[in-house]
Amino acid sequence: MSLTASIREQVRHRAQSACEFCGITEIDAGGMLTIDHFQPRTKAGSDTLEDLIYACNRLSQILAFLCSTVVSLLITTSLNTYS
Ligand SMILES: [Zn+2]
Repeated sequence: MSLTASIREQVRHRAQSACEFCGITEIDAGGMLTIDHFQPRTKAGSDTLEDLIYACNRLSQILAFLCSTVVSLLITTSLNTYS
């Protein structure tokens, strides 16, 4: 399921068209930023405003990296616990 235009616009408006983490504006970034989930939908995140964030591309790449790192750490930790 993709986000509706209405939800996207609400998130963008709340963020005042700037990254909600680092504050870079659309003007500085050279275009519209992306809307990300705090938690991926597969991890019980949802499409409500509270779970969405307006973020620059660089940040969304970092978030994706951190998320995959945390998941692999958790898997490694749980594997070690049972071995
Ligand atoms: Zn940012």
